[in-house]
Amino acid sequence: MDIQTEAKRLVSEMTLEEKASLCSGEDFWRLKSVPRVGITENIMMTDGPHGLRKQVDGADPLGICDSYPATCFPAECATACSFDRELLNRIGAAIGEECRADDVSVILGPGANIKRSPLCGRNFEYFSEDPLLAGELAAAYINGVQSESVGTSLKHYAANNQEKLRMTVESVVDERTLRELYFPAFETAVKKAQPWTVMCSYNRLRGMYASDSHWLLTDVLRNEWGFTGLVVSDWGATNDRVAGVRAGMDLEMPAVNRAGDQAIVDAVRSGALPESEVDVCARRVTELILKSRLRTKAEYNIDTHHALARKAAAASAVLLKNDGALLPLKAGATIALIGAFAETPRYQGAGSSKINPHRIDSARSAFTEAGVKFDYAPGYDTAADAPDERLIAEACEAARGKDAVVLFAGLPDRYESEGFDRTRIDMPESHNRLIERVAQVNPNTVVVLQCGSVVACPWADGVPAILLSYLAGEASCSAAVDLLLGRENPSGKLAESWCYALSDNPSYNYFPGYPRSVEYRESVFVGYRYYDTAQKPVRYPFGYGLSYTTFAYGDLTLGHTRMRDSETLDVSFDVTNTGERAGSEIVQLYVAPEAAVIFRPAQELRAFEKIALAPGETKRVSLSLDRRAFAYYNVNVHDWAVESGAYEIRVGASSRDIRLCGTVQIEAENPVAAPDYRSSAPCYYDLSQGISAVPDEAFAALYGASLPAREMGKNDLHTHNSTMREIQNRWLGRVLVKAVKGKASGMAVDSEDMRLMVENMLDDAPLRMLLMTGGGAITPGMVNGLIDLLNHRVGSGLAKLLRKSK
Ligand code: BGC
Repeated sequence: MDIQTEAKRLVSEMTLEEKASLCSGEDFWRLKSVPRVGITENIMMTDGPHGLRKQVDGADPLGICDSYPATCFPAECATACSFDRELLNRIGAAIGEECRADDVSVILGPGANIKRSPLCGRNFEYFSEDPLLAGELAAAYINGVQSESVGTSLKHYAANNQEKLRMTVESVVDERTLRELYFPAFETAVKKAQPWTVMCSYNRLRGMYASDSHWLLTDVLRNEWGFTGLVVSDWGATNDRVAGVRAGMDLEMPAVNRAGDQAIVDAVRSGALPESEVDVCARRVTELILKSRLRTKAEYNIDTHHALARKAAAASAVLLKNDGALLPLKAGATIALIGAFAETPRYQGAGSSKINPHRIDSARSAFTEAGVKFDYAPGYDTAADAPDERLIAEACEAARGKDAVVLFAGLPDRYESEGFDRTRIDMPESHNRLIERVAQVNPNTVVVLQCGSVVACPWADGVPAILLSYLAGEASCSAAVDLLLGRENPSGKLAESWCYALSDNPSYNYFPGYPRSVEYRESVFVGYRYYDTAQKPVRYPFGYGLSYTTFAYGDLTLGHTRMRDSETLDVSFDVTNTGERAGSEIVQLYVAPEAAVIFRPAQELRAFEKIALAPGETKRVSLSLDRRAFAYYNVNVHDWAVESGAYEIRVGASSRDIRLCGTVQIEAENPVAAPDYRSSAPCYYDLSQGISAVPDEAFAALYGASLPAREMGKNDLHTHNSTMREIQNRWLGRVLVKAVKGKASGMAVDSEDMRLMVENMLDDAPLRMLLMTGGGAITPGMVNGLIDLLNHRVGSGLAKLLRKSK
């Protein structure tokens, strides 16, 4: 019997209570069983994404600390720069193997959210500012994991692009922008890889929590994109369990006192929820359990996975600068190795994705293993932001007179994490000052950057070479050394634009938003879509990266010069390795409408490929473009539409290094009128101002509704979605927050970054999170009692608190 039929049969044998019980977890990571019908296992879902984070049994109730050792692969911020589907597939398969070894059914990843602002604290867990790249790589990863009969959870669906207020914030995004920017990575991953699960995000969208949104979870995800798997809530993202069942949110994680199960049963008994809707959720959960039975136990080889992590880190690093071919370092060169990160690397971000690696390579050990002699000086204290003159002087001493200096710098752990956003893009002054001073002493200074997102590089013009590692996993440093010594040839390219200043970023004035909502006023102008349209200089453009060899492009052929939009355009061209080393080139194809009536980005990435070439070798690359490559989302017809006209086909080595151009004339078969954006949002045309300053009325018109309330009013009643910050407008709220913070500070958090994450998350956490974090001691009745008390309903509040149950 196939899985669907068997699941249906099992569900038909279950009682209502049993079906409802399947709709929430057994504990933080496990699902429930229904032994009476033969479902005896409690399958496990756990983090992800760049390795397996399986918590040790009995660890903290927030699911943060103490996990079993696993391979820490490069984070997505790094692997995205590989533009390499095959690599992501291999990493996924290796992680799948580790899940098999550790009896894990579903790994919680990949993250496919778009990098709207460089400030998002969790950017290191996401791929790109570009949805095509993010979607393709997410799909490749998912296919890799699932080839091992282990499931994935594509997250966080949708429009979750910041950490600030992530559990309550309303992302105010117009429909076109959702469809063109924030949805397609999810859409591609669903269509190309059918993840076993999709995780809905914490935030609100179009006035609803994602976990309650039928439009998001059923209309778009299932009916439009054909998703057949299960939707799980982000941990604690459930707002209204019964609305969730109606919306298609099958599984609430983690377990919250079985209150959700009871609410489902009560709703069915009262006639408010048809039992058939519970059946659907229970069936999807059962299908997941049955699929997990196909997984067999496997052992994996730690060394083999480490070697893959090293290869992946090398294939992902981006060579940003290499004046005078300083790199690769010449054999026998005298070297100073500087920077505490060379000894204690920064190789992953903090939060739920934090892996406990089997081993960590340092640059010191990697150079030593390579037989390279060097003098080492830490140059800064990783815990301090202020420059330490003594350490800098010592580093300058080590640097003086050497053939080259390799200086590791970047962002310390406490600068970026899940749970809070950055407020600046600057590196600590201790790192910046060190680079400047060392470069003055030794002009042959190579900076190796370890960070999870864009940083300002005020010293960039003063150093000849920069290698960007991002957060490249446990083998980050050995991979960097492989590249520095020329054992590997850099081939990564930027998956996000590196602006000069934070204020250059189009979301600058609207990030992270008002206390209760964030307005995506830059619309479709995110990343290079904005910089290229506004012709704004950037330090390093999207798609940019150097190699130790060079590539030439030629002989562009387009399958049509004129075609209907239902036809496919085949594009082919030659790429030649014109240097003396083997290398790989990431070729990019952008489509640029020549005379669009509606506002559009100047160009958009529509295809890419990574091509390996021996010295002197030429390969013909063939790419093809379908209708979507030319389409925009027309909000009048709620569908994709193509404008007839000329489109430039640009093939290049980066978004700002276009090598070949052709033009195709497209005729729309069923033309539809373009929305009249000119009257509603004229400012969208005025990108020359730098920031697209969209006034309220224009944004509201584009958004298609009045803007949501911005702030909780003084007399508004508190609800289970009031945050810890908000309830402090009441005496009781202040007492409660003090108590919660006191409890949290007593929690054994294993590092400074994790402590910061918990602290920051607490302030923005809604009251309903007390259920999840209370370890079972807090019931929904108690939370309701607290809410009544906060709203001055003393009698009913006390009664509920004393009753405790329900
Ligand atoms: C994160 C998810 C993660 C989950 C379980 C949430 O707070 O947003 O990405 O998978 O916790 O740790």
